[in-house]
Amino acid sequence: MTAALEIDLAAFDANIAAVQARVSPAEPMLVVKDDAYGHGAVPLVRRAVAAGIRWIGAYDIETARAVRAAVGGRVRIFVWTFPSVDEVAAAVDLDLDLGIGDREVLEDVARVGAERPARVHLKIDTGLHRNGFRPEDWPASVRQARQLELDGTARVVGIWSHIAEASDADDDAARAVFDLARREAVEAGLGPSIHHLAASAASFARRAFRYDLVRVGAYAYGVAPAGGPPGADLGLVPIARLIATVTEVARAEVVVDIGSFDGLFSTLAGRTAVGTPAGPRALLRVGHTESSVAAWPGAAIGDSVVIYGPGTHGETTATGLAELIDTIGEEIVTRVSPDLPRRYVEGPA
Ligand SMILES: *Cc1c(COP(=O)(O)O)cnc(C)c1O
Repeated sequence: MTAALEIDLAAFDANIAAVQARVSPAEPMLVVKDDAYGHGAVPLVRRAVAAGIRWIGAYDIETARAVRAAVGGRVRIFVWTFPSVDEVAAAVDLDLDLGIGDREVLEDVARVGAERPARVHLKIDTGLHRNGFRPEDWPASVRQARQLELDGTARVVGIWSHIAEASDADDDAARAVFDLARREAVEAGLGPSIHHLAASAASFARRAFRYDLVRVGAYAYGVAPAGGPPGADLGLVPIARLIATVTEVARAEVVVDIGSFDGLFSTLAGRTAVGTPAGPRALLRVGHTESSVAAWPGAAIGDSVVIYGPGTHGETTATGLAELIDTIGEEIVTRVSPDLPRRYVEGPA
């Protein structure tokens, strides 16, 4: 065995079920940007679709193409980055749902002028200032979109936004902007039927934020919010274990085959324990391609150590590690190198 990220598909199923139960009657969209936060978009999309997920949030066209190839036409695939008109054309061609918050992208939709109208979700900027039509531009934007409908190049099926989920007061203010934008869209003659605002945290905590659809990434992968409630309290389980293998045994320490090039933060050295066959042992040093761990009696080449994740070797989570080095669990899981093998298992090994 070599170092690997092991992904427990049964745990993923359980999280999907927990999300569905929590947000119902709203529908969850599984967000798979950054290769499903490092867990592998295609295998997890296949699994999610089998569990009843009907919306995938792909972020970009490349991911959407892979998802479409994997699960065919059965799911709605939402994308929201369009570096050029080519991505707009590809999105229409792949029968995607286009999240658009930019005047030029709307113009690109008109320019593509595909045979079938593009399915568009208009994004209102509710305060995050990442992208989205600014509230002052919204009335003109919905008129522009309505004109595309009349020209037959687009159909506005949704209105959406993204919120910080850092304070209830800010989120409430964002929701007020969102609701006003929805009314203005209808006044402009649009008839969107899919409204979405919440990501993981708000979808779980705040019923009023669920609307028709919620976009869930972190929670589906069992990554709990840093400083927030533990995943277990939310009914979620981490789905991944980062595992390394002992390659050398010395008197005081053992060497394992994982390092910062594999995505292990070197700042974790001296701050955490890893799971060994003899229980937790200190992570002493993180090198580029290998690390050292405090020795245990009987340590042998080939033994597994668990850096994070559930199972018999302790319950260190990605979020727990993140808190040690002032980041968030998503950073820990997405940092795992794409070159490190992924192993998909049904339940803890
Ligand atoms: C990443 C992302 C999400 C998912 O966020 P989580 O907090 O991981 O659930 C939802 N919507 C958008 C637009 C995103 O970029």
